[in-house]
Amino acid sequence: MAATMKAARIHAYGDELIVEDIAVPQPGAGQVLIKIIASGVCHTDLHATAGDMAGNPKLPFVPGHEIVGRVVSLGKDVSRTSEGDLVGVPSLHWACGQCEHCTGGWETLCLRQLATGYSVDGGFAEYVVAPSDFVVQIPEQADPFEMAPILCAGVTTYKGLKQTQAKHGDWVVISGVGGLGHVAVQYARVFGYRVVAVDIDDDKLALAERHGAELTVNAAKDDAVSRVHDETGGAHAVLVTAASASAFRSGVEMLRRGGVCVLNGLPPGDFPLPICNFVLAAQTVIGSIIGTRRDMDEAVKLAVEVGIRTTVEKQPLENINEIFRRLQNGQVVGRVVLDMTSN
Ligand code: NAD
Ligand code: ZN
Ligand code: ZN
Repeated sequence: MAATMKAARIHAYGDELIVEDIAVPQPGAGQVLIKIIASGVCHTDLHATAGDMAGNPKLPFVPGHEIVGRVVSLGKDVSRTSEGDLVGVPSLHWACGQCEHCTGGWETLCLRQLATGYSVDGGFAEYVVAPSDFVVQIPEQADPFEMAPILCAGVTTYKGLKQTQAKHGDWVVISGVGGLGHVAVQYARVFGYRVVAVDIDDDKLALAERHGAELTVNAAKDDAVSRVHDETGGAHAVLVTAASASAFRSGVEMLRRGGVCVLNGLPPGDFPLPICNFVLAAQTVIGSIIGTRRDMDEAVKLAVEVGIRTTVEKQPLENINEIFRRLQNGQVVGRVVLDMTSN
């Protein structure tokens, strides 16, 4: 195996990524080395490289946390994974397994966790190492490119929708139909919800319609809050996946009494809650971050069994900065997935 690999790294927050040759990482105890096939580009990679998020890691680092590839070698003491396995590496790279969050079923809240493509080098590279206990087995029949977005966009929205506790037949708004939202629309349909899709781009709304959204609203052209109330009587639940703070306030305003608004988007900023309305209407706002390994197993199984079809645009690693610009400007429909077999 070659000693070096191509990787895209960020050296200074806000700068462009640099595609360069770096050493192939070696798997330590309990870790596996994976040759990457497909690597999704998530909007969180933009926040991460811009330095938007809490606890900025040491530079330089390799972003990317929607990884599918094959295990090519094992470190010491690896039991769950074998050479040749098709696996995924999600954002939750590792959690301690000991703390109150880990033992309480919320390993995604572990304060000692490591995040792929953030605190640990991620998927914009030819190889990645990951702890065998946290890699995800991907069924052989799955398409690696279509599966890559399930590793973050899929599990995050699957978990977010579960948190809404909406029931079959309820009206659920998906606000933001990008990488996350176009998968969310499909999980929501699988759960039997009536879906309203809200975005500011007609192509994305057309995609939501193809995936079963009953109503689509362009928030740039229409008063989205009034439309939702007029057409549905107010949403039972809203999942905000938009990377724009203005969508958060309108998300809450779209709720009916007793409704639940789950927040997935991570734009910098804040938004006000009108106290009286909110209290009198007994509404709920919940922040929701990725998903546990158990959520991931469920999200992957569902995706494979019911055929969640992610819309994927394959691109080579070399185009990463242009892909970032397009994602920032809202010009990606579905998900860009890096084709790491094209080198
Ligand atoms: P994306 O860029 O693919 O999609 C964002 C979508 O929001 C786009 O379609 C855009 O047109 C739409 N949008 C922008 N302004 C809007 C508005 N005012 N109203 C409605 N829609 C609007 O991004 P993505 O990869 O889907 O990620 C979305 C957000 O979710 C990002 O902030 C990302 O960091 C965050 N995220 C959070 C988690 C988590 O665990 N909570 C996981 C992954 C991503
Ligand atoms: Zn992500
Ligand atoms: Zn922990």
